[in-house]
Formats: sequence, structure tokens, C-alpha cells
Amino acid sequence: MSNKQKRYFLTEEEIPTQWYNIQADMPNKPLPPINPATKQPLKAEDLFPVFAEELCRQELNQTDAWIDIPEEVREMYKYYRSTPLVRAYGLEKAIGTPAHIYFKNESVSPVGSHKLNSALAQAYYCKKQGITNVTTETGAGQWGAALSYAAKAFGLEAAVYQVKISYNQKPYRRSIMQTYGAQVTPSPSMSTRAGKDILTVDPNNQGSLGTAISEAIELALNTPNCRYTLGSVLSHVTLHQSVIGLEAEKQMQKAGEYPDIIIGCFGGGSNFGGISFPFMRHNIKDGKTTRFIAAEPASCPKLTRGVFQYDFGDVAGYTPLLPMYTLGHNFMPANIHAGGLRYHGAGVIVSQLLKDKMMEAVDIKQSESFQAGLLFSQAEGIIPAPESCHAIAATIQEAKRCAQTGEEKVILFNLSGHGLIDMAAYDQYLSGSLLDYEVTDEEVQRNISQLEKVL
Ligand SMILES: *Cc1c(COP(=O)(O)O)cnc(C)c1O
Repeated sequence: MSNKQKRYFLTEEEIPTQWYNIQADMPNKPLPPINPATKQPLKAEDLFPVFAEELCRQELNQTDAWIDIPEEVREMYKYYRSTPLVRAYGLEKAIGTPAHIYFKNESVSPVGSHKLNSALAQAYYCKKQGITNVTTETGAGQWGAALSYAAKAFGLEAAVYQVKISYNQKPYRRSIMQTYGAQVTPSPSMSTRAGKDILTVDPNNQGSLGTAISEAIELALNTPNCRYTLGSVLSHVTLHQSVIGLEAEKQMQKAGEYPDIIIGCFGGGSNFGGISFPFMRHNIKDGKTTRFIAAEPASCPKLTRGVFQYDFGDVAGYTPLLPMYTLGHNFMPANIHAGGLRYHGAGVIVSQLLKDKMMEAVDIKQSESFQAGLLFSQAEGIIPAPESCHAIAATIQEAKRCAQTGEEKVILFNLSGHGLIDMAAYDQYLSGSLLDYEVTDEEVQRNISQLEKVL
């Protein structure tokens, strides 16, 4: 008997018209970001030189639970939304679990990941304000590709700093960004003060998201009519990604089920928050008891082994101080293939929710993530992004637990992207040369002890 697969879609009218802002409903709101110069809570205006103004207001909005999706953005969403919700019968069979496994397939976006959901919104708000140029950083290149396309769609010029290790490991992502018309520079570079500072101390520095962010912000601040954009971590990014969970909620209704467990891989928190928060509102308001699990790499374990503290979002210290789970902004993650998960901190919303035990986190070793990716590829036909493999590995752990207890739990995970540009990583796994990286407690302690205590 062949494996079954069942997919659920929405009509155009059913595609959400508003994003969901969980900040309005959180029992404990995130602590305010702090302006490092004044040590005062940040005001939206403080961010205006860096981001489009509407995005600054969304970032700090703790009162409006629902925010309208601009019609121009919703029209672009219709290029690929709704994305399918899939019942993964093949994966269930391969695991031998009584659990019902569903995944939301964000890999069907033109750029291959969920990142376009926020890129389109950010490009739109920049354009509306009369901005002409946008900058950003990218790791594996997923965000850079999304921003490059979104910029082109709204008539903006894009300059992207790509983490050097990924620039060299994943040349096709650079080609994709250039195909969409963006300028791409490997980071650290000599084109900014932040890059120069790093390269003069360590000429072989392979870069990190924290470094690339510093470079992109510096360029935005020094270029007229230019703003910076970020693909994760910030609350307005997670707001835009709520379209994932809002769609999934309606699609699960069509499937006649409600998730007991929701899982997302975790870089800065946007795809995890995107699929989780619309459901978490029912935990907060309607007494539902869904578990939410963030799956992070064992080599970059800020949620499971970091500290909750004010820290910078980048290496140079250009960002506001954010109250978050962090490994310290100087933490250099190992060169794992899941480039989108190589970030030292977690967004402020997720950090507060984890502190309040409204969600959980697990760490996954690189080899286990690819083992899960292989099983999923063979069972469902879609080759997942190395990042998404972490969510699949955590799903398999939960599904195996159900196999032991006989529980028919309903598990929903987010397939944040496909891995078709990441086949070099799969090659390494298949040839047995993939490494697992462990972080020692001393390393974690050393980085964290360097953090300045703000409060
Ligand atoms: C960027 C990325 C991630 C990690 O970012 P989050 O903000 O934590 O979602 C995960 N998966 C894919 C495919 C990505 O491109």
C-alpha cells in the first residue's frame, strides 16, 4: 500500500486579513528594550533612523491584538498563500506512531521559506514611507533571498551582508539574491567600521549573524533614505509570521482536529512564534492546554542553556538592549549547516513566555536533525531545510513517546523551508562526515560572564 498524504487549503477570502499580536494578550508583557545610551526604555522614535516607522510602532505595540494586513501585502501573499496544511500519514507510518502528525508547509513560497511573509510587509512599509534602499544581513541566505525578492516587488534597492561561512558554503543562495537584483557582500567585510574592527583582530573570521547585523545597520545609518530590515528575533517579524498559525488554525478546523503539541525550529523565534502564538491565545483565553516546543541546535542552545538577561542583538552593540535568553552577543556558534539557527539570542516575546513556562525548548544535535530530515524526505517527498530538520527531529521524539504510551496526540509542526539549495549538507551527512558540535559549560559561562549587567 502506498503512503497517503492529505492536504488542506483555504479559499482566497479565508486568507487572514489581520495579523495577531500576542503581546496584547500576554499575562506578563515583555520587559521594555533599553536605549543603551540613555539606559531608558526605548521609544518607537528611537528606532526611526533604523527601521520604517510603522515597523517601529508595531515593535512596541503591547495593546492591539489585531493589526490589519495592508491590501498590497495581502495581494502578494496570494502569490503562494494559503500554504498547505498536510497530514503526514507517511511519516506517521515510518515512525510507527498512533500520533496524528500535521505540518504547515511554508516551503512552497517562491523563495522556499516562511521568510517572505515578513519581507513583503517590511518592504511595503519602507516603500510607503518613501524609502528607496534597504539593507539586511543573512545567514544561510533564506532571509536575504526573501528580502531581495520583496524589495524588487515593491521597487526598492537591496544590499545584503551574508555571513561569510554561508556565502562560501551555499553559493547558490548568493546567486538567487543576485538574480532578484540585490547586491551581496560577504560579512565581515572591510566596507564598514564594524567589519574592519573584526577583521583586523581576526582576519579569518567566518562571520555570524551578529556581525552581519552590525554591518547592515551601520550601512543603513550612513546612507540617506535607507533603512535596515531584520528577518527574525524582533517582535514585528513574529507579528507578520502569525499568518502561518492563523491559517493553520482554520485548516486544522477543516481537518476536524486541534493540536495537542506544536513544534517549530528556533533561530530567533519568528517561525516558531508564527505557528504557535495564534494557538497560544486559546491557552491564555480559552483554557486550552496545547504544549509549544521550540527546537534549537545543541551547538547554539540559548533557550536550554542561556541566561535571561539584557543583551545586545549584534556583536558591535548597535542594537537596543533586549531582555532575552542569550548566550552572550560575542558567542560564535559552530559552523552547522542550519545557518538560520546560528544566532546567540531569542526574541523578547518568546523569552518572556519561556520564563513564564508557557512554552518549552529542546536542543537537537546536528546528526539527529539530518537523520530526521532523511526520514521525512523519504516518507513525504519534501527535502526539508537543515533548520526545519530540527523541528522534525523534535516531532519524531514526541511521536515516539506516543508510540510507547499509545496516546493519539495531535502534533503540528512548521516546515519552515525546503532544503533543495542545501544538498551539500545532505551530502556530508550521507557520506558520514557530518560533525556534531557540543558547547561546553565553560564556554557558555565565559561568554555570559562578559555581559554587562544593565539592571
Ligand atoms: C531563518 C530560518 C529559520 C530560523 O528563523 P526563525 O526566525 O527562528 O524562524 C528557520 N527555518 C528556515 C527555513 C529559515 O530560513
